[in-house]
Amino acid sequence: TVRVRFAPSPTGMFHVGGARSALQNWIYAKQQGGVFVLRIEDTDAARNKPEWTEGILSALDWIGISRDSYEGPYFQSSYAGEHRAAARRLYESGRAYYCDCTREAVQARTGNQYTGYDGYCRDRGLPPGEGRALRFRTPDEGATVVVDLIRGEPTFENKLIEDFVIARGDGSPVFLLANVVDDMTMGITHVIRAEEHLPNTPKQQLLWDALGVKPPIWAHVPVVVNEKRQKLSKRRDKVALEAYRDEGYLATAMRNYLMLLGWAPSGDREIVPWSVIEDEFRLAEVNPSPAFFDEKKLRAFNGEYIRALPIEEFVEVCQPWLTGTGTIAPPPWQPEEFDPAAFAAVAPLAQTRIAVLSEIVPNVDFLFVASPLIDEAAWTKAMKDGSAELLDDAIAAFEAVPSWDAETLKATLETVGAARGLKLGKAQAPVRVAVTGRTVGLPLFESVEVLGAERTLTRLRAARV
Ligand code: GLU
Repeated sequence: TVRVRFAPSPTGMFHVGGARSALQNWIYAKQQGGVFVLRIEDTDAARNKPEWTEGILSALDWIGISRDSYEGPYFQSSYAGEHRAAARRLYESGRAYYCDCTREAVQARTGNQYTGYDGYCRDRGLPPGEGRALRFRTPDEGATVVVDLIRGEPTFENKLIEDFVIARGDGSPVFLLANVVDDMTMGITHVIRAEEHLPNTPKQQLLWDALGVKPPIWAHVPVVVNEKRQKLSKRRDKVALEAYRDEGYLATAMRNYLMLLGWAPSGDREIVPWSVIEDEFRLAEVNPSPAFFDEKKLRAFNGEYIRALPIEEFVEVCQPWLTGTGTIAPPPWQPEEFDPAAFAAVAPLAQTRIAVLSEIVPNVDFLFVASPLIDEAAWTKAMKDGSAELLDDAIAAFEAVPSWDAETLKATLETVGAARGLKLGKAQAPVRVAVTGRTVGLPLFESVEVLGAERTLTRLRAARV
């Protein structure tokens, strides 16, 4: 049976590129009736932290790879014995040799540039010893052909592959070897991983051969780049899946978008049910060239997913931003000020206007804070000559409406504005800023209806002192 693995290193926030590879592995396993294995490659003790591992598990869960749908997590650090045993076997079978050359010594022999190991210790027959690295003896002839579902058969001349280190001077195996040994131990048949590992692949395949196990089929998925065609980096770009989650991207939109990096479903469609992606995705169809992670497009995409939600579900998914949970910042109102009925009343208006869920807060805060946020810039923008008089007229007219509903309020302000030669749009601006503190927001009269007569009039009067 097909066995794939996702093998992240817990050295930081979970990267969107990693999430993409995980989903591709997961779908491939599902399509093949195979198994998805999760392996945490935690051998870099200096850079690993347990919270990063926890972050990976919860991010995978969020994106739809639930903890009961895979084998593992295994931890690379628990297989140190296997890694050492493999290094020993390679030495004992003559496929690896000990070397005590320093980089400087190699450089002195080969000229100034270090262009790879020169093979000096190949036939010296050095026994193991403190400070001696173990190097793999690569073939001098022939070529290593990698079978790659996305890239065909990348071919590497063996004579260009240096005798690389597989265990350091202190005896500890290097990542390249540990990664291969774990894949063997876990019976991995297909390695689907990021393109940046492709240069390691011929070396790793030589290790598979030398250890006497049939190498896996590979698939190196394209590098993910920003709008400047630079590889996404955590210093420069927003790459943490958690950051997108906390900003209010829906997992459904996110995972769909990630699958569109270098691939598309049939019929020029982009927004399709996940089941269509699970059916139609083919690794062989993935475009090998760099994939542009277009945050603007993702945002627009997310907006469409938000608008497609049934209203009850929309109300539900907004909750973390309305209450502030986990890593999501609390809203600017007190929990007891929140009124679920008022929120439910304006939710349909907000649903069509936001692209990420965190934007719900500035759209509805006027309903829950004791008095509207004072934004000087908004006031200056909305309060023109004559705005004060207009507000006085509006207060008087609103005090006298027969019924406090959006339609009546709108007709009332229309009349008040017309008397001063103002179109409704112009008349609305000072009312909006007095009531909500902002110059843009949900439709004004519906908002004012939900806010109620008393609070609206109090705010309008307050704007006049
Ligand atoms: N731990 C490696 C990484 O996070 C994965 C290597 C692999 O998939 O083979 O880049």
